[in-house]
Amino acid sequence: QPAIRLTGLEKHFDKVRAVDGVDLDIPPGEFFSMLGPSGSGKTTVLRMIAGFELPTAGTIELEGKDVSQLAPFDRDVNTVFQDYALFPHMTVQQNVEYGLKVKRVAKAERRERAKEALRTVRLEDFGDRKPSQMSGGQRQRVALARALVNRPKVLLLDEPLGALDLKLRQTMQVELKQIQREVGITFVFVTHDQDEALTMSDRIAVFNAGRIEQVGTPVEVYERPASAFVAGFVGTSNLLSGRSAEAVIGRPGLYSIRPEKIRIDGDLASPAGPGETSATGSVTDVVYAGSTVRYAVALDAGGQLSVVRQNTSEPTEFADGRVRLRWRREHSFQ
Ligand code: ADP
Ligand code: MG
Repeated sequence: QPAIRLTGLEKHFDKVRAVDGVDLDIPPGEFFSMLGPSGSGKTTVLRMIAGFELPTAGTIELEGKDVSQLAPFDRDVNTVFQDYALFPHMTVQQNVEYGLKVKRVAKAERRERAKEALRTVRLEDFGDRKPSQMSGGQRQRVALARALVNRPKVLLLDEPLGALDLKLRQTMQVELKQIQREVGITFVFVTHDQDEALTMSDRIAVFNAGRIEQVGTPVEVYERPASAFVAGFVGTSNLLSGRSAEAVIGRPGLYSIRPEKIRIDGDLASPAGPGETSATGSVTDVVYAGSTVRYAVALDAGGQLSVVRQNTSEPTEFADGRVRLRWRREHSFQ
């Protein structure tokens, strides 16, 4: 039985269909991400699971129980927000204990559980500090401890790392994933950052305009995008359509090809190998980015492809800019 089941979930704000028909099962213990551009409905779905918003239509089940109409505190879920929402006048230990105090948990147990939660987020020695005496990353971990101390079945996280700079965010991504593995709680993690979703998640739902376009593992979503939107939003993709698609692929339609899956060489004479598609063209731009080099290539058949190559040796200059591109697989869409 899934930890979370959403069925026909909708939320309308006046004329805005913020969530427009979401069906989703999340099994227990999964690190599940909701990925999509700003305004695609991720936060609204999370707020409905938490109980801060009621659905316009559809149901929310937690471990088989319909909680759609229950108040937030009657649901076995906790939420971690980007802005931490810590009490500034309380110590870290008091912040973490607070929820248990409200629930009238006895003092000794409160202390012990708060210590344990702080240990889980590797802040066991910081209990006496005030939030203002801690860094952004540490404050975010306090916020996490404050949620974990309740031992919820499900933890909801709305862009929790969004306020951190890139290096710290990457460190926290690894830690958060480790913590999730240790505690075994189902995490539902909202992000607009595709790298973050790919590196952290067991599975990802890709949102677009209030709907889910695809649910799958990082490998499935990246290697087999279900739509042109997913292909473009998760990673970067070349899109080929119309005449150039027909000339290069041999059939009409809409296709996507990952820039890093295209091989580029100056060997115009040798044709595509078995199972390969190939096209010739002229390099119109070269962008040197240290570990990679990106080439923009105008195809002779019309259209343009971007190609990324690992910078394993000196960047190659192609004689008079003429190249052949080869790749093994493109994705086709309606
Ligand atoms: P995301 O988290 O993916 O950025 P949101 O769920 O916050 O998206 O928003 C989805 C859509 O719903 C947006 O168009 C947003 O403007 C709208 N929306 C969200 N909350 C409200 C609200 N309380 N009142 C009116 N419109 C809202
Ligand atoms: Mg949001």
